[in-house]
Amino acid sequence: MVLLHVVDLDLDLAALRPLGPFFALRTRPVGPGDPVRPLPTLARAYWDAPGSGAPDVHGDPLSFRVRKVTRALRAPEDRIGASVAQQGLAARLWSVTLGCAVLYGSIPEPDPGLLLWDPDATAPDDLWLTEVRARPGDAATVAAAVLDGHLEPLCAALRARHPVAPGLLRGNSASALAGAARQLDLWARTNGRPDVAARARTLTAELFTHPLLADTGTLTGTAFRRRSCCLYYRVPGGGICGDCCFTRPPRSSPRAPSG
Ligand code: SF4
Repeated sequence: MVLLHVVDLDLDLAALRPLGPFFALRTRPVGPGDPVRPLPTLARAYWDAPGSGAPDVHGDPLSFRVRKVTRALRAPEDRIGASVAQQGLAARLWSVTLGCAVLYGSIPEPDPGLLLWDPDATAPDDLWLTEVRARPGDAATVAAAVLDGHLEPLCAALRARHPVAPGLLRGNSASALAGAARQLDLWARTNGRPDVAARARTLTAELFTHPLLADTGTLTGTAFRRRSCCLYYRVPGGGICGDCCFTRPPRSSPRAPSG
Protein backbone atom coordinates (compact mmCIF):
# COMPACT_ATOMS: atom_id res chain seq x y z
CA MET A 1 0.00 0.00 0.00
CA VAL A 2 1.46 3.40 -1.02
CA LEU A 3 1.53 6.05 1.71
CA LEU A 4 0.15 9.03 -0.12
CA HIS A 5 1.83 12.34 0.18
CA VAL A 6 -0.88 14.65 -1.09
CA VAL A 7 -0.23 18.02 -2.68
CA ASP A 8 -3.01 19.94 -4.41
CA LEU A 9 -3.06 19.48 -8.17
CA ASP A 10 -2.19 22.74 -9.90
CA LEU A 11 -4.32 23.49 -12.93
CA ASP A 12 -1.35 23.30 -15.32
CA LEU A 13 -0.03 20.01 -13.88
CA ALA A 14 3.34 21.78 -13.99
CA ALA A 15 5.19 19.10 -11.99
CA LEU A 16 4.85 16.72 -14.95
CA ARG A 17 6.69 18.89 -17.48
CA PRO A 18 10.29 18.18 -16.40
CA LEU A 19 9.62 14.46 -16.86
CA GLY A 20 9.45 14.73 -20.65
CA PRO A 21 6.84 14.95 -23.40
CA PHE A 22 5.11 11.67 -22.57
CA PHE A 23 4.27 12.97 -19.09
CA ALA A 24 3.17 16.48 -20.00
CA LEU A 25 -0.55 17.13 -20.34
CA ARG A 26 -2.03 20.32 -21.68
CA THR A 27 -4.92 21.58 -19.61
CA ARG A 28 -7.28 24.45 -20.02
CA PRO A 29 -10.95 24.91 -20.64
CA VAL A 30 -12.17 24.95 -24.19
CA GLY A 31 -14.81 27.55 -24.74
CA PRO A 32 -16.63 29.47 -27.43
CA GLY A 33 -14.20 31.39 -29.59
CA ASP A 34 -11.29 29.16 -28.59
CA PRO A 35 -8.70 29.50 -31.34
CA VAL A 36 -7.77 25.84 -31.19
CA ARG A 37 -9.51 23.65 -33.73
CA PRO A 38 -12.08 21.33 -32.25
CA LEU A 39 -10.77 17.83 -31.57
CA PRO A 40 -12.55 14.56 -30.85
CA THR A 41 -12.58 13.21 -27.30
CA LEU A 42 -11.07 9.85 -26.44
CA ALA A 43 -14.64 8.79 -25.57
CA ARG A 44 -15.50 9.14 -29.27
CA ALA A 45 -12.40 7.18 -30.26
CA TYR A 46 -13.41 4.32 -27.95
CA TRP A 47 -17.14 4.18 -28.42
CA ASP A 48 -17.94 5.31 -31.97
CA ALA A 49 -18.65 2.25 -34.08
CA PRO A 50 -16.04 1.36 -36.72
CA GLY A 51 -16.96 2.93 -40.02
CA SER A 52 -19.38 5.42 -38.44
CA GLY A 53 -17.25 8.17 -39.95
CA ALA A 54 -14.49 8.63 -42.51
CA PRO A 55 -11.07 7.45 -41.22
CA ASP A 56 -9.93 10.99 -40.55
CA VAL A 57 -9.27 13.00 -37.37
CA HIS A 58 -12.94 13.90 -36.92
CA GLY A 59 -14.76 10.97 -38.49
CA ASP A 60 -13.12 7.82 -37.05
CA PRO A 61 -10.08 9.08 -35.12
CA LEU A 62 -8.96 5.62 -33.98
CA SER A 63 -8.87 4.21 -37.52
CA PHE A 64 -7.07 7.36 -38.63
CA ARG A 65 -4.41 6.87 -35.95
CA VAL A 66 -3.85 3.21 -36.76
CA ARG A 67 -3.55 3.98 -40.46
CA LYS A 68 -1.12 6.82 -39.77
CA VAL A 69 1.13 4.64 -37.54
CA THR A 70 1.00 1.71 -39.99
CA ARG A 71 2.08 3.95 -42.84
CA ALA A 72 4.79 5.72 -40.83
CA LEU A 73 6.30 2.36 -39.84
CA ARG A 74 5.78 0.86 -43.30
CA ALA A 75 4.24 -2.07 -41.43
CA PRO A 76 2.93 -4.92 -43.58
CA GLU A 77 -0.38 -5.22 -41.68
CA ASP A 78 -2.74 -2.78 -39.97
CA ARG A 79 -2.76 -4.87 -36.80
CA ILE A 80 0.93 -4.02 -36.28
CA GLY A 81 0.06 -0.34 -36.50
CA ALA A 82 -2.86 -1.02 -34.12
CA SER A 83 -0.47 -2.62 -31.59
CA VAL A 84 2.08 0.20 -31.78
CA ALA A 85 -0.62 2.89 -31.67
CA GLN A 86 -2.23 1.28 -28.61
CA GLN A 87 1.09 1.01 -26.78
CA GLY A 88 1.79 4.67 -27.50
CA LEU A 89 -1.56 5.83 -26.13
CA ALA A 90 -1.21 3.51 -23.14
CA ALA A 91 2.22 5.03 -22.44
CA ARG A 92 0.75 8.54 -22.49
CA LEU A 93 -2.10 7.64 -20.14
CA TRP A 94 0.10 5.75 -17.68
CA SER A 95 2.80 8.44 -17.72
CA VAL A 96 0.39 11.26 -16.91
CA THR A 97 -1.54 9.30 -14.29
CA LEU A 98 1.39 7.58 -12.58
CA GLY A 99 3.35 10.84 -12.66
CA CYS A 100 0.53 12.75 -10.95
CA ALA A 101 -0.12 9.98 -8.43
CA VAL A 102 3.54 9.93 -7.42
CA LEU A 103 4.31 13.67 -7.54
CA TYR A 104 0.98 15.05 -6.27
CA GLY A 105 -0.59 12.11 -4.46
CA SER A 106 -3.71 12.65 -6.54
CA ILE A 107 -4.63 12.32 -10.20
CA PRO A 108 -6.71 14.44 -12.53
CA GLU A 109 -9.98 12.67 -13.36
CA PRO A 110 -9.03 11.21 -16.75
CA ASP A 111 -12.60 10.78 -17.98
CA PRO A 112 -12.35 9.95 -21.71
CA GLY A 113 -15.06 12.54 -22.28
CA LEU A 114 -12.80 15.26 -20.82
CA LEU A 115 -9.71 14.32 -22.84
CA LEU A 116 -9.41 15.78 -26.31
CA TRP A 117 -7.22 13.74 -28.62
CA ASP A 118 -5.38 14.75 -31.76
CA PRO A 119 -4.55 11.45 -33.47
CA ASP A 120 -2.47 13.38 -36.00
CA ALA A 121 -0.09 14.77 -33.33
CA THR A 122 2.75 13.47 -31.16
CA ALA A 123 3.28 13.89 -27.41
CA PRO A 124 2.81 16.30 -25.72
CA ASP A 125 0.48 17.88 -28.30
CA ASP A 126 -1.79 14.86 -28.71
CA LEU A 127 -3.82 15.13 -25.47
CA TRP A 128 -5.61 18.00 -23.84
CA LEU A 129 -7.57 17.78 -20.59
CA THR A 130 -10.44 20.24 -20.61
CA GLU A 131 -11.15 20.19 -16.88
CA VAL A 132 -8.93 19.25 -13.92
CA ARG A 133 -10.84 17.41 -11.17
CA ALA A 134 -8.71 15.76 -8.48
CA ARG A 135 -9.14 12.10 -7.55
CA PRO A 136 -7.11 10.07 -5.03
CA GLY A 137 -3.79 8.70 -6.28
CA ASP A 138 -4.01 5.22 -4.77
CA ALA A 139 -3.47 2.07 -6.85
CA ALA A 140 -7.13 1.09 -6.99
CA THR A 141 -8.20 4.50 -8.28
CA VAL A 142 -5.33 4.68 -10.77
CA ALA A 143 -6.07 1.18 -12.08
CA ALA A 144 -9.78 1.93 -12.43
CA ALA A 145 -9.04 5.20 -14.22
CA VAL A 146 -6.47 3.88 -16.70
CA LEU A 147 -7.34 0.20 -17.15
CA ASP A 148 -11.12 0.25 -16.86
CA GLY A 149 -11.64 3.82 -18.06
CA HIS A 150 -9.31 3.74 -21.06
CA LEU A 151 -7.33 0.65 -21.93
CA GLU A 152 -10.19 -1.84 -21.84
CA PRO A 153 -12.49 0.22 -24.09
CA LEU A 154 -9.49 1.02 -26.31
CA CYS A 155 -8.77 -2.71 -26.59
CA ALA A 156 -12.41 -3.40 -27.55
CA ALA A 157 -12.43 -0.61 -30.12
CA LEU A 158 -9.21 -1.83 -31.73
CA ARG A 159 -10.39 -5.43 -31.77
CA ALA A 160 -13.59 -4.32 -33.48
CA ARG A 161 -11.37 -3.00 -36.28
CA HIS A 162 -8.31 -5.29 -36.40
CA PRO A 163 -7.44 -8.91 -35.46
CA VAL A 164 -5.22 -8.10 -32.47
CA ALA A 165 -5.08 -10.55 -29.58
CA PRO A 166 -6.24 -9.27 -26.17
CA GLY A 167 -3.14 -10.79 -24.54
CA LEU A 168 -0.92 -8.78 -26.88
CA LEU A 169 -2.77 -5.56 -25.97
CA ARG A 170 -2.58 -6.31 -22.24
CA GLY A 171 1.16 -7.00 -22.65
CA ASN A 172 1.52 -3.64 -24.37
CA SER A 173 -0.37 -1.96 -21.51
CA ALA A 174 2.00 -3.59 -19.02
CA SER A 175 5.08 -2.60 -21.05
CA ALA A 176 3.77 0.96 -21.21
CA LEU A 177 3.29 1.07 -17.43
CA ALA A 178 6.75 -0.38 -16.80
CA GLY A 179 8.26 2.15 -19.21
CA ALA A 180 6.55 5.07 -17.48
CA ALA A 181 7.74 3.78 -14.09
CA ARG A 182 11.33 3.44 -15.36
CA GLN A 183 11.30 7.01 -16.67
CA LEU A 184 9.94 8.31 -13.35
CA ASP A 185 12.56 6.30 -11.45
CA LEU A 186 15.35 7.66 -13.65
CA TRP A 187 14.16 11.24 -13.23
CA ALA A 188 13.83 10.82 -9.46
CA ARG A 189 17.33 9.41 -9.08
CA THR A 190 18.89 12.01 -11.36
CA ASN A 191 17.18 14.78 -9.42
CA GLY A 192 17.90 13.55 -5.91
CA ARG A 193 14.32 12.50 -5.15
CA PRO A 194 14.57 9.02 -3.60
CA ASP A 195 11.08 9.58 -2.11
CA VAL A 196 9.64 9.86 -5.62
CA ALA A 197 11.58 6.80 -6.81
CA ALA A 198 10.29 4.77 -3.86
CA ARG A 199 6.68 5.84 -4.39
CA ALA A 200 6.88 5.09 -8.11
CA ARG A 201 8.21 1.57 -7.49
CA THR A 202 5.68 0.77 -4.79
CA LEU A 203 2.70 2.06 -6.76
CA THR A 204 3.85 0.29 -9.93
CA ALA A 205 4.27 -3.00 -8.08
CA GLU A 206 0.74 -2.62 -6.66
CA LEU A 207 -0.65 -1.88 -10.13
CA PHE A 208 1.00 -5.01 -11.50
CA THR A 209 -1.07 -7.13 -9.09
CA HIS A 210 -4.23 -6.08 -10.97
CA PRO A 211 -5.81 -9.08 -12.73
CA LEU A 212 -5.47 -7.40 -16.14
CA LEU A 213 -1.70 -7.02 -15.68
CA ALA A 214 -0.65 -9.78 -13.29
CA ASP A 215 0.03 -12.45 -15.92
CA THR A 216 1.56 -10.19 -18.57
CA GLY A 217 5.18 -10.71 -17.52
CA THR A 218 7.66 -10.33 -14.69
CA LEU A 219 8.42 -7.03 -13.01
CA THR A 220 11.72 -6.93 -11.10
CA GLY A 221 12.34 -3.49 -9.66
CA THR A 222 11.90 -1.30 -12.72
CA ALA A 223 12.83 -4.07 -15.18
CA PHE A 224 10.01 -5.85 -16.98
CA ARG A 225 10.05 -8.97 -19.12
CA ARG A 226 6.85 -9.47 -21.02
CA ARG A 227 5.24 -12.76 -22.04
CA SER A 228 3.53 -11.60 -25.22
CA CYS A 229 4.92 -10.12 -28.41
CA CYS A 230 4.02 -6.59 -29.51
CA LEU A 231 4.71 -7.42 -33.22
CA TYR A 232 7.28 -4.65 -33.56
CA TYR A 233 9.75 -7.17 -34.97
CA ARG A 234 7.60 -7.27 -38.12
CA VAL A 235 8.22 -3.57 -38.82
CA PRO A 236 10.96 -3.08 -41.43
CA GLY A 237 14.12 -2.45 -39.39
CA GLY A 238 12.30 -3.28 -36.14
CA GLY A 239 14.24 -5.21 -33.52
CA ILE A 240 14.09 -6.22 -29.90
CA CYS A 241 12.15 -4.10 -27.41
CA GLY A 242 13.81 -3.54 -24.04
CA ASP A 243 11.30 -5.79 -22.28
CA CYS A 244 11.06 -8.44 -24.99
CA CYS A 245 10.36 -12.06 -24.24
CA PHE A 246 13.05 -13.00 -26.79
CA THR A 247 16.77 -12.32 -26.97
CA ARG A 248 16.62 -11.78 -30.72
CA PRO A 249 13.77 -10.92 -33.07
CA PRO A 250 11.78 -14.08 -33.88
CA ARG A 251 12.17 -13.68 -37.66
CA SER A 252 12.88 -17.33 -38.19
CA SER A 253 10.05 -18.51 -35.90
CA PRO A 254 6.97 -19.58 -37.75
CA ARG A 255 4.85 -17.98 -35.08
CA ALA A 256 5.87 -15.63 -32.27
CA PRO A 257 3.78 -15.55 -29.09
CA SER A 258 1.20 -12.80 -29.45
CA GLY A 259 -0.91 -13.31 -26.41
S1 SF4 B 1 9.48 -10.25 -30.10
FE1 SF4 B 1 9.95 -8.86 -28.48
S2 SF4 B 1 11.01 -7.21 -29.50
FE2 SF4 B 1 10.08 -8.35 -31.05
S3 SF4 B 1 8.21 -7.34 -31.34
FE3 SF4 B 1 7.76 -8.95 -29.90
S4 SF4 B 1 8.01 -8.03 -27.92
FE4 SF4 B 1 8.89 -6.63 -29.38
